[in-house]
Amino acid sequence: MYFSNHKPVKMTKSSAQQQSSFSKQQKKYICINCGHPIAELYRQYTNTAIKTSHCEKCHKVADKYIEFDPIIILVDAMLLSQESYRHMLHNRNFKLNWKLSLVLLLLESFALWRQKGIVSLQKDVLQHEIISEKGFYICCLQNMIDYVIITLILLIVACVQRPALISCTGINKFAVILLKAITIANLSKMFLLPLIVWRENTTDLGANIHQLLVLGHHLLALVYIYAIVGSFKKLQAFLIILPAFVVKEYIKSNISVYLEYYF
Ligand SMILES: [Zn+2]
Repeated sequence: MYFSNHKPVKMTKSSAQQQSSFSKQQKKYICINCGHPIAELYRQYTNTAIKTSHCEKCHKVADKYIEFDPIIILVDAMLLSQESYRHMLHNRNFKLNWKLSLVLLLLESFALWRQKGIVSLQKDVLQHEIISEKGFYICCLQNMIDYVIITLILLIVACVQRPALISCTGINKFAVILLKAITIANLSKMFLLPLIVWRENTTDLGANIHQLLVLGHHLLALVYIYAIVGSFKKLQAFLIILPAFVVKEYIKSNISVYLEYYF
């Protein structure tokens, strides 16, 4: 069983009992199947014996992923599993995902920087600012602004559509959950890796199709995870994500022009 990256890993018998009594008052985890709040994910009886908790609403094992390796959870998240999203958002230490998001930021920025360099050379407009090292940092900044803008837009929509949820959760906590959700949805950017490695072996059409597929996966991931975070139906989430994404792209393109001009 794998618990090394899981929050309640270091528990003695007495601390488990303390947690049990405390958890009765505060349900800080959720069932990954139905989203119902639960007090504890498992109960530890000895150092080697534990029992996973069952959800009182759906009666399934509340969180099967506490026994899974993080890599398997990541693979499930990339396969758009909503259970894995709930686990990562609410029941697991998010430190690994923050680190991974940094790698993905660099990966996405490199892909963007390279694409801009290719377009620049094709147009025979040698934009030294873009193809130089500084251009890479500008792309990093653009992508970070991208994350912030989409988080803010979706936060505003949630405030308007789900005021009761926001007041219950607290806007700061909800904003952090939303930022985590965007980070998880950004796992789609991992699929840009083959395009970076084999760009010379593909045509422009092939590269465009690849990017379109990655974008489609990313949008689906956003829809699925926003449906969880905001308690929306998938269709509702889709109707929010699509215009939010268009608005974000519009704002980002304007900011990008500004950044490239002044930096
Ligand atoms: Zn349940």
